[in-house]
Amino acid sequence: MGDSLLITEVRPWGGDPVDVLVEDGAVAAVAATGASTTAAERVDGAGRLILPALSDVHLHLDSSRLGLPFRAQTGEPGRWGRIMNDREHWRGAERSVTERASFTLAVAVANGATRIRSHAQVDADTGLAKLEGELAARERYADVCDVEIVAFPQVGILLEPGVVDLMDAALAAGADLVGGMDPCELDRDPVRHLDAVFGLAEKHQAGVDIHLHEAGELGLFTLSLIVERVRALGMAGQATVSHARCLASGLPGVPGAIERLAEYDIALTHAAGAQGWALPLLDLAAAGVRVGVGMDGQRDYWSPYGNGDMLDRAWQLAFVNGFGSDQHVEHALAVATWGGASVLDRSLRPLDLSDTHPGFAVGDPAEFFLVDAVSPAAAVMDRPAARTVIHRGAVVSVDTAIEGFEIPGRFGREGS
Ligand SMILES: [Zn+2]
Repeated sequence: MGDSLLITEVRPWGGDPVDVLVEDGAVAAVAATGASTTAAERVDGAGRLILPALSDVHLHLDSSRLGLPFRAQTGEPGRWGRIMNDREHWRGAERSVTERASFTLAVAVANGATRIRSHAQVDADTGLAKLEGELAARERYADVCDVEIVAFPQVGILLEPGVVDLMDAALAAGADLVGGMDPCELDRDPVRHLDAVFGLAEKHQAGVDIHLHEAGELGLFTLSLIVERVRALGMAGQATVSHARCLASGLPGVPGAIERLAEYDIALTHAAGAQGWALPLLDLAAAGVRVGVGMDGQRDYWSPYGNGDMLDRAWQLAFVNGFGSDQHVEHALAVATWGGASVLDRSLRPLDLSDTHPGFAVGDPAEFFLVDAVSPAAAVMDRPAARTVIHRGAVVSVDTAIEGFEIPGRFGREGS
């Protein structure tokens, strides 16, 4: 028997108090409080909620300005304006990419997120500099969270020379997945764009995670091209589409598109956007499509939003979907926890509307956070700051303190 941990008197998803025994990084038993005495290490749950760890599955660690002074938005409106705003200013950030990515990662973990997928921008201007910053941050916090990195062609693949070679190099250097970005609207050549993405995926035996902001029929068309490549290459279970705004359109083609996503186990991630971006979460869960949520850009050259707290993003997800019942708010929390985990680890079952309290079956990964709240819905509404975070069966953060890293809310005075 390997390392064991007994988490006493906790309430999974707000249920009756139990003790959760963890062995070798997985749930070994869930029993009435006081029944188990075997573990050497103990955490006193003191009646708190225990929930699956939060998962931030759409994050940009390289652009985050969390912890730095608030910066006024200087970009022109729209996608291209924001892309160029980032290009113009990222080198002038007060801290390096490695420092900013590290800080952002530490804040995420301290707030309960132990499973992360971050995009690292790869283009003719940045080369691999941003990827290297993210790789260094991942290395620094390798013991407290799992991080997947996507080689992300923010500026398109075809508009500037050398991007395919750079992405190839990024995958060789440690990126886990191949990214893509609005193949029709940005490169205006979806076939060449997607052939490059899937060509790299085949070469490196990597999954794909494609940003798709394209709305309406155009987005559904691009989505169909992605599905076709997943089918042809036998990549079921290895693809993710981020944002997938077209699925928020209400067009007649949406239900069929959702069916295809389920058929080829193509997951979705999004940032809980409003105004035509809110995905049909309940329809997606009913169809068995994996959905996760993330902070996306945080206080960066794109967005003033984000604070590193995925429980906050769960609140936003519930809010933009108009969820009011406890059951639906809990579903938003399930998306922000287990849903995201199931996007990253396809051996985990997708969320199921008939069983909304996942994460506590024997064998489930011991990734949890504890928070003092009467119910999951109350936790989402109140978002208490004090949390105990458990990763691979070990406590990695207590009340926003990770060993070796201070999280006072911002970098030290000299950074401001
Ligand atoms: Zn993004």
